[in-house]
Amino acid sequence: MCGIVGYIGKNQAAPILLDGLEKLEYRGYDSSGIAVINGQDINVAKAKGRLQVLRDKTGDGNDVKGTIGIGHTRWATHGEPSDVNAHPHLSQSGRFAVVHNGIIENYLPLRERLTAKGFEFVSETDTEVLAHLFEYYYKGDIMDAMIKVIDRVEGSYALGVLCSDYPDSFIAVRKASPLIIGLGEGENFIASDVTAILKHTRNIHYIEDNEIVVLTRDDVKVYNTDKEEIKKDVFTVDWDISAAEKGGYPHFMIKEIEEQPKALRETISPRIKDGNIVLDDVKLTAQDIKNINKIFIVACGSAYHVGVVAKYVIERLCRIPVEAQIASEFRYCDPIVTKNDLVVVISQSGETADTLEALKVAKSRGARILSIVNVVGSAIANASDDVIYTWAGPEIAVATTKAYSTQLAVVYMLAIYMANKLGTITGGQYKKYINELEALPDLVAETIENKDQLAYLASKFYNCKSIFFIGRNLDYAVSLEGSLKLKEISYIHSEAYAAGELKHGTISLIEDGTLVIAIATGRDLFDKTVSNIKEVTSRGAVVMGVTTKGKTMDGIADHVIEIPETSDIFLPSLSVVPLQIFSYYVAAEKGCDIDKPRNLAKSVTVE
Ligand code: GLU
Repeated sequence: MCGIVGYIGKNQAAPILLDGLEKLEYRGYDSSGIAVINGQDINVAKAKGRLQVLRDKTGDGNDVKGTIGIGHTRWATHGEPSDVNAHPHLSQSGRFAVVHNGIIENYLPLRERLTAKGFEFVSETDTEVLAHLFEYYYKGDIMDAMIKVIDRVEGSYALGVLCSDYPDSFIAVRKASPLIIGLGEGENFIASDVTAILKHTRNIHYIEDNEIVVLTRDDVKVYNTDKEEIKKDVFTVDWDISAAEKGGYPHFMIKEIEEQPKALRETISPRIKDGNIVLDDVKLTAQDIKNINKIFIVACGSAYHVGVVAKYVIERLCRIPVEAQIASEFRYCDPIVTKNDLVVVISQSGETADTLEALKVAKSRGARILSIVNVVGSAIANASDDVIYTWAGPEIAVATTKAYSTQLAVVYMLAIYMANKLGTITGGQYKKYINELEALPDLVAETIENKDQLAYLASKFYNCKSIFFIGRNLDYAVSLEGSLKLKEISYIHSEAYAAGELKHGTISLIEDGTLVIAIATGRDLFDKTVSNIKEVTSRGAVVMGVTTKGKTMDGIADHVIEIPETSDIFLPSLSVVPLQIFSYYVAAEKGCDIDKPRNLAKSVTVE
């Protein structure tokens, strides 16, 4: 959550900071601010609202002079979005300016202590204690102050800190919040993610918790808390810069929906070699797989919904019990996880706070951790025994589409790979699944072609007050994602129900004209779901059915959306697509801010 960017170089900092913040605005967008050193002064500009307000206030940054600066786009945790609560925060004398991503959990006792020592607080944020702490501990050496500050605070942080006594450098640190270092020619950067600096450099350092970074124009040095220098590897980011631009599309979301076939090809193709699935970064041996007692899939939001699909698919193919759990529940439920269990964690950013903590809980109990993440070198990837990257490229829209789809593709590969090692599928099934997996990107492309029908249906239903999604088994797992997508971006109340469960209570909410989206793609349970459709139409519901081309829903559903045929296990990859597109057009009809829905942020780095 929140976006941080920092720059030191020969160019004016403020326009570069604003440009970087624009790329990070998906991470938080309730207010923003910049601080720039000019001579001995730190000049700060902040504004509540979208980044454009700050742009207008600063003449696109041209009114704030100086070549070293830090910027922030906020997702408020402590204190309402306002000018005063926006970052950067200044210390009492104005000597330090701080941008912060995360939560300082012990900010209240620290605030009381600092207040007793005469510090005056102007904001309601937890972050302001950091600015004053720097001043309190500063005795002429910023590194010493940094070491003391991070020793005193508890919680999560990525920090960029300016000090007016250091007009030719700035300092940064992170713990459990993302921060990368960008290495340029005569200029260097910090950022919450690479998209903010991709325009300037592709060379980056990943830094670990509590490594302290000192940036000057020509150098970047990284130290541990004993002030010993640490040599860091340079990674080159191969993301295509256009992937982080809208490229003529009205919104990132529709661009990313349409990018799904390409993203899927990039996830799948390199891992199929000579007709076999090859998971290079997975060190699980056949014996390890045979020894697995139980699999937990732990994630949040849409990644959790991938986990629900995974449960059905892995159990079906591998006959190993699988439990899909929400990370924020798993971490605090004293989970019964042992060293014979495999814990699969799924996170687009690889920084999701609850998922990372759940991973640590599972690891402390001896479980093997396999992560499915998009961002290379992220905290979750680093903490895992095995990693499978989704290689989806940057995803900017807050509501995920291509990250969900590529995570799903990885789940299929993992399930088929394990089933083959276990011998729970035949050689023939293995080959068939691999062929179908390779064909999946084209089938997704074919599904996307149905956009016009979905735009039409959205124009018909965008005024609904409440929408229900029903399905059984894998179709239920997709219903969860369809419902979340819709409510995230269109703000229409919606619920996903296992089709057979609706009548146990929630059917009382169905009345004349209620829209029910019924996913009925699975071969075995089609007729069962049709019965559930009848139950709701008898009570006045209007039904939009999603099914495969081979089946008929004529006379059963009021509107029928067809997807191509493939094996049942892969159908979620196709049936989710019309739900994404429908949600997109509903939100567009309603005039919602599709890429940046209210109250949300993309990378949830607070618990
Ligand atoms: N906790 C801080 C605040 O509320 C930082 C939030 C963020 O990461 O944007 O200001």
